[in-house]
Amino acid sequence: MNLKDKIRNIEGFPKEGIGFKDITTVLKDKDAFKYSIDELKKMSSEVEFDTILGPEARGFLVGAPLAYATNKAFVPVRKPGKLPAETISYEYDLEYGTDKLEIHKDAINKGDKVIIVDDLLATGGTVLSTIKMVEELGGEVVGIYFLMELTFLNGRKHLEGYNIKSIIEY
Ligand code: IMP
Repeated sequence: MNLKDKIRNIEGFPKEGIGFKDITTVLKDKDAFKYSIDELKKMSSEVEFDTILGPEARGFLVGAPLAYATNKAFVPVRKPGKLPAETISYEYDLEYGTDKLEIHKDAINKGDKVIIVDDLLATGGTVLSTIKMVEELGGEVVGIYFLMELTFLNGRKHLEGYNIKSIIEY
């Protein structure tokens, strides 16, 4: 399977100068969707883990099926104000301004081994923020897996020392 053939590139979305990688064309192709989750499952089979975290919203689309396929727990990482119980948050810098993510305080127990999955690695801000929250709660990040990685944005330079894998690279 060549997954690149299944990803739609939309120039100028959400704003001028950005080429958006649209995974809805992967999701609506049953073989491409299955292939994607199977590849993530292979990556995750190299580590021992308890829980999968997926950042809102596309991280849910790959993280929840992977949790089902590996028989593990799933924890949603959300934008502020969406989670109903007590949360911890981490604010991170964007090119212009900041963004913030939250998880439930009781989502991770001390010593839990977790993996983080998302559709795409760009600057690494989303994943770094997720790592910080996991570590604050005493969890250990043992793998970080993506469908694709925009290598020209150098997201990995913020994530040195972590086990990062992606199915395809641009
Ligand atoms: P980062 O925090 O800069 O690494 O950006 C990654 C986050 O932004 C992920 O949660 C992605 O879902 C989202 N994202 C950024 N660019 C794209 C894109 O081209 N297609 C789909 N999602 C994107």
